[in-house]
Amino acid sequence: TSENPLNFGSGPSKLPKEVLEEAQKEFLNFDHIGFSITELSHRSQEYAKINQEAQDDLRELLSVPNNYKILFTQGGGQALMSAIPLNLMKKNGSADYAITGIWSTIAADEAKKYGKVKYVFPESEPNAGIPDRSTWKLDKDASYFFYCDNETIEGREFPFIPDTEGIPIVSDMSSSLMSKTIDVSKFGVIFAAAQKNLGTAALGVVIIRQDLLGKAQDICPSFLNFSLLDKANSILNTPPVFSVYLLGKVLKWVKRNGGLQEMENRCKKKSKLLYDTIKNSNGFYKCPVQNEDLRSHINVPFTINNGDVKLEEKFIKEADENHIHQLKGHRLVGGVRVSLYNSISFEEVKILTDFMYKFQNENQ
Ligand code: PMP
Repeated sequence: TSENPLNFGSGPSKLPKEVLEEAQKEFLNFDHIGFSITELSHRSQEYAKINQEAQDDLRELLSVPNNYKILFTQGGGQALMSAIPLNLMKKNGSADYAITGIWSTIAADEAKKYGKVKYVFPESEPNAGIPDRSTWKLDKDASYFFYCDNETIEGREFPFIPDTEGIPIVSDMSSSLMSKTIDVSKFGVIFAAAQKNLGTAALGVVIIRQDLLGKAQDICPSFLNFSLLDKANSILNTPPVFSVYLLGKVLKWVKRNGGLQEMENRCKKKSKLLYDTIKNSNGFYKCPVQNEDLRSHINVPFTINNGDVKLEEKFIKEADENHIHQLKGHRLVGGVRVSLYNSISFEEVKILTDFMYKFQNENQ
């Protein structure tokens, strides 16, 4: 209904309603201090508590081992694509990049500004997915191995953690962190922009193995320097206070709702319903990701009638009229994209798939 519109956006995306209501209730008067959290010093005791609790809850939910630090950074995902080489790439060194789509390509192009980038996958298979492990070219001297766990635009997700023969793994989990359980101990760095499963935009979350701190290049801006951020417990300069505050509320919501195993179960159930609907459409709806093992549980892009742009526009328009919103595919690839972040219920996906059946019957 118009009172409960559905929001399948890829980010910024739907947040749990309870979180928004809590924030609304506290907005003018946070914790009885008489004014808003956005008006309060980041050096206050209140913010110190918000900052610490968000770290503690992340550590608990993701079972982050003690030899890893959790940092909050400014600028979201792309800022971290610069911060990674600036903090980890040795002078005159290089890093290995696995290219599986647009976000990993952007990360590699950014890293080239600060050092040498080597491509792990054979050039004959650009953006084709994840080629057989035997074809990967790893450089044992690489400062790190970079991959994007879930390519938000193409809807392609790594079904495994790559075996890198000891090279520290850096993973962009902007659209997949909090959607599944992960073994943090396998990684050097995990990072994510917050505006999907974690809260609101312009905040980055970094989980870094302690021994990788202290390696920043001289030119690394202080505000992106992981060691300086760690020493300041992520209050180096004014942090994105409101985004960290919202992150804290989202994490409490995840805890109340059963934690990561439950989020993973829900995500699998929701994506299965959607992929089954596509599979049962006799080719009316089609997934661009051919290999079923690589299909994302979070972002599900599809085309209609073999990429009939007019029909896709009609689908998106009629969905909007039915209060089903933010379905337009990324501007670089077109089509339709459905994002299934934690705040989206199974029932909401069912409303969408019912709409898809109806649209197919009326238009094929
Ligand atoms: N990485 C991935 C996987 C993303 O999906 C996005 C944003 N959609 C980014 C990085 C970039 O994040 P930001 O817009 O916060 O810079």
